[in-house]
Amino acid sequence: MRPLTCTIRLQHLRHNYQTLKQLHGSKLLAVVKANAYGHGAVECSRALHDIADGFAVACLEEALELRRNGITKPIVLLEGVFDASEYETVEQYDLWPVVHHQAQLEHVLARNWQKPATIWLKMDSGMHRAGFFPHNYAAAYTALAQSPKVGKIVKMSHFACADEPESGMTEMQLEAFDLGCSGLSGETSLANSAAILNHPNAHRDWGRAGLALYGISPFGGTDDRFKPVMTLSTRVFAERVLQPHEPVGYGAAFYTNRSTRVGLIACGYADGYPRRAETGTPIAVNGSISRVIGRISMDMMTVELRDNLQGIGAEVELFGDTVSVNDVAASAGTIAYEILCNIKRAERAYI
Ligand SMILES: *Cc1c(COP(=O)(O)O)cnc(C)c1O
Repeated sequence: MRPLTCTIRLQHLRHNYQTLKQLHGSKLLAVVKANAYGHGAVECSRALHDIADGFAVACLEEALELRRNGITKPIVLLEGVFDASEYETVEQYDLWPVVHHQAQLEHVLARNWQKPATIWLKMDSGMHRAGFFPHNYAAAYTALAQSPKVGKIVKMSHFACADEPESGMTEMQLEAFDLGCSGLSGETSLANSAAILNHPNAHRDWGRAGLALYGISPFGGTDDRFKPVMTLSTRVFAERVLQPHEPVGYGAAFYTNRSTRVGLIACGYADGYPRRAETGTPIAVNGSISRVIGRISMDMMTVELRDNLQGIGAEVELFGDTVSVNDVAASAGTIAYEILCNIKRAERAYI
């Protein structure tokens, strides 16, 4: 069998949830959109079910997958609905939709709800992607609050730069949010992972943790408070010794500068490993750091072997505990989120 394995440590997930909840205080949504950032939404939600205050997904389809697999805790739909007809299913499955623009709001008010809906009303406090502008927010809030069809309203917004401590943007967004909410009662939700870690002013009634829940620091590098949940691992399955000045792989993009032992491993861009990861990207062989050499192929890639134990059968960690996915991402010009979401085809093992 092809030895590529994606191992998901559910105990680490629980540890990270508890750490984040303690850091944030009050309640915390586990963000499990996009198949729990590639970790498996059903498995992760089940593993957190007894400790999580609720879950957040992108859309109705993702929420239904959880409900149909026994998840009974609150579920927030972060993008809201795409069509008025979806509100029927929202009510049937007791989901909490975000409302972030006027059409969504009107559809909520037009629907004949059997019992009052819980709405997460989103403000655009400066990211300018989704949400009501601060100057329109109170009117939207009041329209919902005055309707007997609406029960609870949770005020929310999202930060553009919470992972950039120097930017000042989060402080501006916080100010805009609090101003736009003045006089409006009820619960509030602002903080993603980075804001939970770096912006205590953004700790409100509900945190929304994604990346750090999976053990990955939103600031790059590693953070000892969190344990990586996913490990992607394989084995060396062929090796060769190359003389100096020999090319390796497609495009002959890498040349040896000395006699080099090259290991071949079964992982490539079709497994979701980023093709743009450059020569020098860290990778662990038998627990010690080596480097990727040459271009990433579809199903395979080549690594430098540095001692005689690192031969055929040697264990390779593409990322996990020894190599941070943040460092792979940095080397490939992307972010950990994208790599985690993209991992596929590997054999899955849940621990
Ligand atoms: C994805 C998402 C989050 C989680 O963000 P992380 O950076 O992964 O913690 C929080 N809130 C909203 C609205 C999101 O879309």
